Amino acid sequence: MGIRLEVNGREIIAEKGETILSALSRHGMHVPTICNLKELSPTGACRMCVVEVEGLENLVPACSFPVEGELKIKTHSSRVLRARKTNVELLLSNHPDDCLYCERNLSCELQSLAEHLHIRERRIPGKKRSGGIDRTSPAIVLDPAKCILCGRCVRVCGEIMATSTLDFAGRGNELKISTSLAKTLDESNCTACGQCLNVCPTGALTENIQFPGLEPHLSDPKALVMVQYTPAVAVSLGELLGYRPGTDLGKTIPVLLRRLGFDFVVESSLGADVMIMEQAAIFQERKGQEKPYPLITSSCPAWVQFCEMNFPELLPFLSPLRSPAQITGILMKERFAGQLMHGKKRVISVLVTSCTAAKREAKSGEMTPQGIPVIDFVLTTRELAKMIRLSGLDLEKLQSGETEAPVMIHGYAGKLTAAAGGEAECLTRSIYRQETGSEMDPSKLQRFRIHKSYREATVKTGKGSLRIGAVNGLAEAVRLLEEIRAGRTQLDLLEVMACPDGCINGGGQPLRAREQTLRARTKAIFDLDNGAEIRTAHHNPDVNRLYKDYLGQSGGETSRSLFQTAFTGRKDN
Ligand code: SF4
Ligand code: SF4
Repeated sequence: MGIRLEVNGREIIAEKGETILSALSRHGMHVPTICNLKELSPTGACRMCVVEVEGLENLVPACSFPVEGELKIKTHSSRVLRARKTNVELLLSNHPDDCLYCERNLSCELQSLAEHLHIRERRIPGKKRSGGIDRTSPAIVLDPAKCILCGRCVRVCGEIMATSTLDFAGRGNELKISTSLAKTLDESNCTACGQCLNVCPTGALTENIQFPGLEPHLSDPKALVMVQYTPAVAVSLGELLGYRPGTDLGKTIPVLLRRLGFDFVVESSLGADVMIMEQAAIFQERKGQEKPYPLITSSCPAWVQFCEMNFPELLPFLSPLRSPAQITGILMKERFAGQLMHGKKRVISVLVTSCTAAKREAKSGEMTPQGIPVIDFVLTTRELAKMIRLSGLDLEKLQSGETEAPVMIHGYAGKLTAAAGGEAECLTRSIYRQETGSEMDPSKLQRFRIHKSYREATVKTGKGSLRIGAVNGLAEAVRLLEEIRAGRTQLDLLEVMACPDGCINGGGQPLRAREQTLRARTKAIFDLDNGAEIRTAHHNPDVNRLYKDYLGQSGGETSRSLFQTAFTGRKDN
């Protein structure tokens, strides 16, 4: 039985237990908010969503006011609008006036609210926030002066990512966002997942931008500049360039990258296909060994770092393989560059990815054994969009004018790794073939494609069976690992992705994607797989050629020395 609400003279029905804000938004009524996020606990801290409730003296925050009886509500009365305007003016009173130079110029929620509420002067003067900018992390930049203390980052980092790197520190006017024990981001336990900057409404949390440093190399005739891009970039870049969510620009991106000055383009899904081949070999090797935990994937760098810091006892169960981007980077430098030098003197390897953690990974000791990185520059989807805008390239013209994509090497099943559950799915196809000698019908795992933070399936492999699981969001992963530790869940193979919904929702993606957008990106990845002629890593002709001419056997000496690394337990900093 619903609860009757009268909102601005119109009747709507609220559900028992919901807040005013959620009832309004279910009925398509928009009330602005800064601190509130659907998937996080409400705090009512910013008071931007205040509404007038008949019979109550004070305005109430709609995000945390439960609907417990019939109410008469005004959402946009002049009293409410005045209060919202004052709240924004208070936030602006100590905010730096450098919007023109801010990374979030034109994508800042505070800026938009000031515009919507028609704020045209600084009415309330205030002391500017102090605190130096923390640029120590290769991935994340924290500028406390731009923080409006909404707490979104604190809740995402704690509630969804189980990391709790960020928290409030100090009191009164000195209240600020800080890492625990006021360490720098680089010294802290931050996994560089980037989920905090995805929700930060202002320029207080941004990514460490690398593309300006790349530009001189692109115009240097002596440099061979090689680039790889991940499948998650292909299905989300369009959102930043005026296309519908879920538009696949996979055919345009290679042409575009060549026009931007890159000499050679390869899909990171090539490395994903190689990783699947290697992972299947590792699975085979470990078969039959007594083990309390499943073989756990290691393709997500934020998860790997989290595991090293919080679950060192799981490292023996973690696949020793580097991430697909690192594997592609190794192949670029070790194999392809030699065939393409033609008088060039230097090789520069670039990754375009949805993942901010890849920026940290590229510089980590585990990935730079002789101090030389496999990947020199890591750009996010957002950075690629900025480069395209800067270049003045017209995507429509590129699409109609060029049919020959200059990609020389392709990935196939590996494209699935962009979506949560996708790595487990394509790995199962290769393990099935290994176990049975025949091909698995991909539709066997159709029910694995549910939109949930955890999914599980059992696939019959001849006389045996394979129990697979895939979890996304580190807090969910922690819960699942507790289940496994307690013996309540038993699996042979477990995929862990740090970001909710996997790489398509990485920290480098278009900001603050709604659920429909995430679903559209995921669907685009599944559609690519459904429509592909080749749907397994072991049938990828480019991969088979690589093994024949260069790598030898999957799981053999060459691929082990190139693609495996030693993950080490480290103290939570
Ligand atoms: S990048 Fe991830 S782990 Fe680091 S502070 Fe942000 S949410 Fe927390
Ligand atoms: S850093 Fe950003 S998300 Fe975190 S409290 Fe400040 S404004 Fe909010």
